[in-house]
Amino acid sequence: MTSQSFDLSFDVVVIGGGHAGCEAAAAAARTGARTALLTHAFATVGAMSCNPAIGGIGKGHLVREIDAMGGLMGEVADAAGIQFRLLNRSKGPAVRGPRTQADRKLYREAMQAAIRGQANLEIVEGDAADLVLGEDGTRVAGVELADGRRIAAGAVVITSGTFLNGLIHMGDRRIPAGRIGEAPSTGLSAALARLGLKLGRLKTGTPARLDGRTIDWASLDRQAADADPVPFSYLTTRIANPQIECGITRTTPETHRIIRDSLHLSALYSGAIEGVGPRYCPSIEDKIVKFGERDGHQVFLEPEGLDDDTVYPNGLSTSLPETVQEAFLRSMPGLERVSILKAGYAIEYDHVDPRELRATLETRACAGLFLAGQINGTTGYEEAGAQGLLAGLNAARRAGGAEPVTISRSDAYLGVMVDDLTRTGVSEPYRMFTSRAEFRLSLRADNADRRLTPLGLELGLVGETRARVFAETETALAAARQTLEALSLTPTEAGRAGLQVNGDGRRRSAWTLLSQPGTDLQRLSAIWPQLADIPPKLAERVEIEAGYDVYLDRQRRDQERLRRDEARTIPADFDFAGLKGLSNELRQKLVQRRPASIAEAEGIDGMTPAALALVLVALRRGA
Ligand code: FAD
Repeated sequence: MTSQSFDLSFDVVVIGGGHAGCEAAAAAARTGARTALLTHAFATVGAMSCNPAIGGIGKGHLVREIDAMGGLMGEVADAAGIQFRLLNRSKGPAVRGPRTQADRKLYREAMQAAIRGQANLEIVEGDAADLVLGEDGTRVAGVELADGRRIAAGAVVITSGTFLNGLIHMGDRRIPAGRIGEAPSTGLSAALARLGLKLGRLKTGTPARLDGRTIDWASLDRQAADADPVPFSYLTTRIANPQIECGITRTTPETHRIIRDSLHLSALYSGAIEGVGPRYCPSIEDKIVKFGERDGHQVFLEPEGLDDDTVYPNGLSTSLPETVQEAFLRSMPGLERVSILKAGYAIEYDHVDPRELRATLETRACAGLFLAGQINGTTGYEEAGAQGLLAGLNAARRAGGAEPVTISRSDAYLGVMVDDLTRTGVSEPYRMFTSRAEFRLSLRADNADRRLTPLGLELGLVGETRARVFAETETALAAARQTLEALSLTPTEAGRAGLQVNGDGRRRSAWTLLSQPGTDLQRLSAIWPQLADIPPKLAERVEIEAGYDVYLDRQRRDQERLRRDEARTIPADFDFAGLKGLSNELRQKLVQRRPASIAEAEGIDGMTPAALALVLVALRRGA
């Protein structure tokens, strides 16, 4: 469409008020761009389509990163959290994941308040039906709504979630929808296909919602919240909501029998669904078929709110008919009399192959058009939110004529995710795990502010309060480190104080001593009482920083080596076909493309760090 008359005009238009859309719109507006959040209904802004929880391992890191750059999700989750738990608490800080169950209503309200309170941000309700292109057809110029209104924009971010050609499956029923009760978006899919973007089909599912008044809670084991809730946001000083317990039940052999006997009724198994689902979040049908020999699967019964009787049975997503859902639920302890409030369902939707995107999340095919969230083949609120922030930031910069921004995989999980998506693409819904990051010793949830807030400040994403809190934390951390480095002991003195150190005669600073396993500030305060003055919240950060210092040195060397390796050339006669230990697929790609350098090999879709290491070893051997 090229006739250029418009009803409204903005620097940035964000389509979709889900988790990606809210962060995108708020980020664009924070940098000063006049922004519109165009979504079907403001009432659904901040809706959690599936599990009422934020964070977890890997995902919690993303929320901290969003927060460190001034985003919304951390503070909203803190305002709505009703069961905070730090996952992997017993493991190293690098893989600890903050998580909370959220009160759905409080989450929605807090997100809507944050969006309403954001300067430079206007809400437009409507259905985006088409994109308006500039005269030459290579640049986005705006959006056309189903009701005929046209909005001009310097840049557009699409964050349409599961809505593109969404099709719900419940047994043999098929309902075109974006989520249950909400119409799908068909026009946008067609507009993206017209631009030549490669679309694919994915699926996800959700369990039935249960009436908590019909659950026999007294017979169930419980899981409590942490006694000392760890908030997501660096700005949150206290969690105000009362904390609740979850119930725990299990599937039984009878549950498995009912599901097995009904598999022919499952949309997932009758061949009705062509999309690929998340391997890490399988439906109960999948679990029974693939891991049927297990005698039971644990199911957490998570209340959806403080004044809400709805319960989310985590781990039971399904596309079986409602009658079968009720039968298998009632075969589980504590659920013998359970009533279903809303049946579970599966949904298939279109996504765009993320290899069509630059590392800024702008499409290669159309300047000024950005995509973020589930539309890029990811799953999860946190993955969506983090992409939204980057896309919104870059959309604002594109509209304002500023240079684009990319985030490196050595700086953030956000960088890891965008790099994975845009280089490797997806064969199933992409979810974040700590194992995806090669530099996870430095990409910790605790230090997201140190990694990203300076960048957020430079880009205009971070407000005054956060800037002040960050500066105060930095000063306090530096002062604590200075104090610790100024105090020292000889090995003999350390031994007398009950600390085990090498008898090498070298004096060790309190900072170095703190990096030793089993040593903490409390122990060191027995030697140097002034250390007891470090406030507990800061003390934990100081201990982690000191503990990782030695490893980080090693990691920095690895990062430098990686950069050197990337520059390494590969001889034209290199024997890719003879490389042992490679998958057939990667060997074939290497043989066909014959990369001339390690950096070029790295750019091949599907390339893994392990495969690159094999090429490097062979190169070194030949050198
Ligand atoms: P959404 O949160 O879906 O938001 C999309 C927004 O775009 C909505 O506000 C919609 O109204 C708006 N919109 C769409 N098209 C248009 C248009 N044309 N015009 C205007 N507005 C438009 N994640 C997990 O991690 N684990 C799970 O088990 C899981 N299960 C899920 C099950 C179901 C049934 C669904 C629907 C989702 C599930 N998810 C799950 C995914 C999770 O909900 C999403 O990953 C997350 O919400 C994606 O965020 P988003 O911002 O990309 O899209």
